[in-house]
Amino acid sequence: MNCRICSEKTSFSFEEVILNRYTISYYLCGHCGLLQTEKPYWLEEAYGDAIIDADTGLIRRNLFFSEMLACILFKIFRGKGSFVDIAGGYGMMTRLMRDRGFDYYWSDPYCENVLAKGFGVDFSKEEKFQAVSAFEVLEHTADPISFLKDTLEKTNAEVIVISTELFQEPVPASKDWFYYAFEGGQHISFFQKKTLIEISKRLNLYFYSNGTFHILSKIKISSFFFFLVKSPLRKLYLFWIRLFLQPKTMSDHYLLLQKK
Ligand SMILES: [Zn+2]
Ligand SMILES: [Zn+2]
Repeated sequence: MNCRICSEKTSFSFEEVILNRYTISYYLCGHCGLLQTEKPYWLEEAYGDAIIDADTGLIRRNLFFSEMLACILFKIFRGKGSFVDIAGGYGMMTRLMRDRGFDYYWSDPYCENVLAKGFGVDFSKEEKFQAVSAFEVLEHTADPISFLKDTLEKTNAEVIVISTELFQEPVPASKDWFYYAFEGGQHISFFQKKTLIEISKRLNLYFYSNGTFHILSKIKISSFFFFLVKSPLRKLYLFWIRLFLQPKTMSDHYLLLQKK
């Protein structure tokens, strides 16, 4: 099998049962380091429920991520412009970011917008978004490069902030890494730092990572600041931001009432 990112030859890594019924193989690319499942034929079954019941980290992750994201987007754009959360799930990130004063929108072809109704995005309008967040989505894509390219094209964004757990070779044993998520069958691509670097090169973008967030960007950003937002110091910066950005909680409330 050839690598889904760089087309180089891959080698068999291990096999495992997913969705409690299919035994599938995982392959490692010796060039870019992508660990990937065989061609996924089970996705329709895997997406019966887009957000799997065992995702207990959903709220905790959203709260932490929205804090880091607010710091980053304020630092780069002063919070000005529009932003969109790709694969936005129930809409929690969009709501949290709007509550922090960012003009944030939601998009997700696989999930119902529960918490950010009225702020879904229609890409046919060719609007300009300053930045895009795509959290816990890259590992769901069979072709990460096309996904990112398509995202950049339809949003005209300068910056993509992504999250996906990275691994280091040797490939973790199947029992040692929760991120394989065999029961769900939705995770089909697994990245190392060097894999993301390879992707950013192919897309002609700058690459930054603070271990939790990875940024692919058309513009240069401060790596030092990017690391800083992982530390509790971001709480201070969040106070600072509040002096400049008005939460949209109430204005959205009135806006939505008017729409009814
Ligand atoms: Zn590869
Ligand atoms: Zn996932």
